[in-house]
Amino acid sequence: MSTYSKQQLQVVRDALDRQRGALAEYIRAGLSESEQNQFAAILGHSAGDSSDEALASSLADVASARLDIEVNQWRELEAAARHLDSPEFGACQDCGIAIPLARLTANPAALRCVACQDDYDKTHVSQQHGSL
Ligand SMILES: [Zn+2]
Repeated sequence: MSTYSKQQLQVVRDALDRQRGALAEYIRAGLSESEQNQFAAILGHSAGDSSDEALASSLADVASARLDIEVNQWRELEAAARHLDSPEFGACQDCGIAIPLARLTANPAALRCVACQDDYDKTHVSQQHGSL
């Protein structure tokens, strides 16, 4: 029971690849040369679910504090890329409805529909601002 057609998923996949590529460039630009090599190595073997944990900790090691947000976004996109083919992809994590395609194209890593994201942001606003 896939929520979206193959064509629709391809649109999301394209958007995801573009964003991931741009983000990777941005992260590279913020890293020193030795850090870039580490990051490139991590990118090179990022496929496969079992490397999730290792990938996350490696990225955390490589990234300096100023890159945390970008690396987090990149990890979210990686996770979205892995789930793109699963029947659950695009289902709102909170209420279960299909997230509109336009929202997924704008943000392939979106986990919630707009209404649930609003609720989430309202209840988590103090945490978000606390780290800035
Ligand atoms: Zn929802």
